Formats: sequence, structure tokens, C-alpha cells
Amino acid sequence: MKDYNYYSTLLVQNVGSKVRAIAPVIASSAAFGYENAEEAEGIFKGEITNPLYARMGNPTTARLEGIVAKMEGGLAAVATSSGMGALAMVMTAYLRSDDEVLCIGGFFGGTYTLVNETMRRFGVKSSFCGIEDYEKIETILQKGIHIVVIETVGNPSLELPDLPKIIELCNKYETLLVVDNTVTPLTLRPLEMGADIVIHSTTKAMSGHSAALGGIAVFRALKEQDKLKHNKYTHLHPIVNKMGKKAFVAIAKKRAMRDMGMSANANGSFLTMLGLETLALRIQRVNDSLPKLVSMLDEKLPKHIKVSHPSLKSNTYHERFNNDFNKAIGPIITLECGNKEIAFKLLNNLKVVTQTANIGDNRTLALHMGSTIYRDFDKDTQKYLGVTDGLIRISVGLEDPSIIAEDFLQAVKSN
Ligand SMILES: *Cc1c(COP(=O)(O)O)cnc(C)c1O
Repeated sequence: MKDYNYYSTLLVQNVGSKVRAIAPVIASSAAFGYENAEEAEGIFKGEITNPLYARMGNPTTARLEGIVAKMEGGLAAVATSSGMGALAMVMTAYLRSDDEVLCIGGFFGGTYTLVNETMRRFGVKSSFCGIEDYEKIETILQKGIHIVVIETVGNPSLELPDLPKIIELCNKYETLLVVDNTVTPLTLRPLEMGADIVIHSTTKAMSGHSAALGGIAVFRALKEQDKLKHNKYTHLHPIVNKMGKKAFVAIAKKRAMRDMGMSANANGSFLTMLGLETLALRIQRVNDSLPKLVSMLDEKLPKHIKVSHPSLKSNTYHERFNNDFNKAIGPIITLECGNKEIAFKLLNNLKVVTQTANIGDNRTLALHMGSTIYRDFDKDTQKYLGVTDGLIRISVGLEDPSIIAEDFLQAVKSN
């Protein structure tokens, strides 16, 4: 794994410019003029790389895409209006009716409904299974399905999958693997491990400031021999054979951005890049303070409230946390309060922590899961996603961890 010094250098040196404007320039224009008719033709043909029209790309956003592609070790990236935009782009660009998606593990609410409700309305089939249910995973992959989606860390379940094993299975059965790496930027590089597409909600840790909604999909390069894998690649689109290694990007742009317009805007891309400059430092800070907060809460909270995190010895995923994940799994901790009433009282007594539906923010955030993001789900689905009536999700920020611990402890006492 590359270290945080490597990323700090890479990110600050790529976001900033050495001459003229130091900060990225915001090209706040929806349309772009062409030199002449020939240039217009060349741009539309894809032979000239000047901007076409902001729905298809913007120079500020292009800069963000280049940086994130490098950061993830990918060939290229396409930024979108939100993290859900990136997931919707991938699903609609690469799937057609009767294709099937397998979702492994618990999911962010929007991803679950995108696959389970929206894509189903357009004839895309889907199935779900637990992260350790290898028998079921293999049975489904053997059928020749088209996409597998997985999150690096279950949110809010905090389940840690055996990613190398799942990557190996997807490659064995030639299934396109999409990894949502929102929670673990820098600490995990799924493309280098063998995944095909990485998704991020850049709204979260990449920005950190909650000032810009955004998403991005990063693609690996297609190799010559990949063309032989019909199910995994050629099925995507006939142009895979013509376009070579950039085919993923061309398909995403033509089938999703052009036709559905989930495009990123220049101001959002600018703000996201400002966040990227400090990403490595912020992630190090959270990785350092999170176990401290967890152990203070574990020690001092009354017995009826349980803190859950893989950094605790008693946690099922403790060994995987230490070894496969290098003790870095993002900012989330959960509290099990037993029921909604206790959870609500605790949340309402907090003085420092902010209640909101976001993660990866510079501030520490907390939210009751069952009554908010997961309110529309039936009990069985909530259970599959790891959501209970008393569950509070905490996203650890940059504050002094002892002040945050103190806030939770006083909130419980005032109940
Ligand atoms: C927030 C989030 C998303 C959706 O991103 P938006 O930017 O809110 O659309 C997708 N996946 C995960 C893991 C998330 O946390």
C-alpha cells in the first residue's frame, strides 16, 4: 500500500498549479465555442479533446477526474452530480433489460433502492447475499450475470468483506465488479486489487467540508485480451472492440451522461478539489482518533448502550480490520441503544455533535438510522442492511476525540 505521505504530495501537487492561477480555475460555462466547423466536427467525433458542451464534460471537472483517476490507480474517471449519479451512470450505461446484478453485503440506502426498485422497473434483475455467503455468490456468478456491486465497508453494518476473495470469484466467472469505495479513499485501491470500476460519493471524505455534492466513477484500462471475455466486456457494447482501453469511459459518457445528464458542475468540482488537497491528512487524523473514541465509549457508556466497531477485540471482523484493512476503515462507528426512544433522547442531548445524514465530514455527525435513511424499508430489509430500531450511526470528524466522547457520555447521563 502507498503511504499517506505519497498521497499528500500527489494531491497537493496535482490540485495546485505552479504558474498563473495557483488554485484550479472554475470554467463556469455551459457551452464552449469552437474555432471553426472542422474543429466542431473533430470534437464531436472524439478526435479533438476540447470541451464540447458542459453536459459531456467541463475543464474544471476534467481536472478533478484526472486527479482521482491517479489517486485510485485507474485509467480515467467520469465525475457526476452526486454519488448516486455515479452509481446510476454505471448501472444504466452497462446493463440492459434481463441482465442481472448481484449485491453483496449491506448497502447505502440509495444504492439498495436503485438496484432493487428503479433498475427492476426497467427489467434489470437483482439478487442480494451476505458477504460470507460464498456458496450463494458462486451459484449466482455461474449463471453468467453481468455486474456485482459491493461496498468496501458496510454502512452502517460495518461488515468487512474479504475483497481479494470476491475479486477472484468475479474474475473467475468474468463478472464486472463495481466497488463503492466512498468510505475508504486512499486506504483501499480496489482497481489495483483487480476490480473493474470504483465509485465514490465525493460529497463525503473527499470533500470533507459538506459544501459540494458530487460523485465519480473510476475505470481501469481494458486490455487486448479482455475482448475475449464476452460476458464481462463485449456484452457491454459493440464499441468495446473498436475503442480499446478507453471503452468504459466512452460508453459511460455516451449512454449515461449524454442521454441522462447526471453531469458534475464546475463549482462543485472546484470545491471537491479543495477537499482533496487535505484528504490524506484528514484520513490520518480520523484513523488516529477513531479507536481512541471507540475505546473511551466502550469503557464508559452504561451497559444498555453498546458501541460497535471492528477495532474492538470482541468484534467479528477484528482480525480482518487489523490485517486486510490496515486498521483504516473510514469514519463510521455505531451505537446500539436498544430502542428508538433511548436513541432519540441521546441524540437530542448532544451539544457538540451535529445531527445530519452525511458521513466523512470534518465535523462529527450522528443520526438515527431507522427513522431517517432507512425509514422506507421493511423490517426484513432493514435487518439485511444491519439497521435496528435503536441504531445510531456516528461519523467521526477532526475534533479532539475526548471532547466528542465527553459529549456522548453527558448525553447519556442527561437521559
Ligand atoms: C453517500 C453515499 C452514496 C451516495 O452519494 P451521494 O453523493 O449522496 O449521492 C453512495 N454510497 C455510499 C457508500 C455513500 O456513503
